Amino acid sequence: MSEGGAAPGGGAAPGGGGVVGSDGGAIGSDGGAIGLMRGTALAGRTALVTGGARGLGEAYVRALHGAGANVIVADLLDEAGAALADELGERARSVRLDVTDEAEWEAAVAASVDAFGSLDVLVNNAGIANSAPIEHFTTAKWDAVIAVNLTGTFFGCRAVTPVMKAAGGGSIINISSVEGLRGSPGLHGYTAAKFGVRGLTKSLAVELGPFGIRVNSVHPGLILTDMTTRIDPERIDIPLGRPGVPDDVAGTIVFLASDAARFTSGGEFVVDGGMITGIPHK
Ligand code: NAD
Repeated sequence: MSEGGAAPGGGAAPGGGGVVGSDGGAIGSDGGAIGLMRGTALAGRTALVTGGARGLGEAYVRALHGAGANVIVADLLDEAGAALADELGERARSVRLDVTDEAEWEAAVAASVDAFGSLDVLVNNAGIANSAPIEHFTTAKWDAVIAVNLTGTFFGCRAVTPVMKAAGGGSIINISSVEGLRGSPGLHGYTAAKFGVRGLTKSLAVELGPFGIRVNSVHPGLILTDMTTRIDPERIDIPLGRPGVPDDVAGTIVFLASDAARFTSGGEFVVDGGMITGIPHK
């Protein structure tokens, strides 16, 4: 999270650090405890993950690769993306992609098809967050968060549709948030964008279903990444007793990418440790 006093998944962010280590102590960063992420469920498929160089996107890249997919790490962070692809080796490539740039989208899709012959899975994960009280929420802040989180997702869905239609199907996974399901003070642009991603997912699921293309949204809760370093998890009531780590969400991504989810489209997958299920108490 770059600015302001609130952050995704957690409402007010008064400062303070995480109480759980980066791997949460429960699941290794390679998702080794989860068989779904270590198999051949996605062998022969190609998956492109935007914002795939770090944080949640990196976990999705590793998990999809672990499940047998060819992966494309697509990010503004060229060096980190290239390093991740190099580390994964065979079946991994990186491309520089600013999701707000239509021409770069065309190039990224073409690069995926050139490298691996197909593009079967798109994870629209790239995102930014900003916040301010509404009287101080500048047009620049609004435009920036809508451009990356909503318009970038729209560009991605549009760019992959011809390739997926030609292939007879595909899976588009749009990363929304619990902020795409409820309000949060200060997060006006972020919340509007994440609700928009949820709505875009529905219209696409209806339109693209007849072409075998499934479109679902994923709604993470508080996950410890660079975006949420200002949130104190101790202040947030999470029924499962801890904030999430990126691997906690990766299994849902692999599932939605795979044939195990073959009859699932237009769905909303909340991955938040139960955070928004209960009645919040003061
Ligand atoms: P992060 O800041 O660690 O990673 C975001 C990634 O997106 C970075 O690699 C960044 O370079 C990339 N990115 C930013 N703008 C881009 C652009 N214009 N083009 C291409 N790439 C761009 O954040 P994260 O926590 O890993 O968040 C990933 C996604 O998950 C975001 O969409 C975020 O809104 C969503 N999310 C996060 C949480 C959480 O608690 N961390 C909760 C709900 C939803």
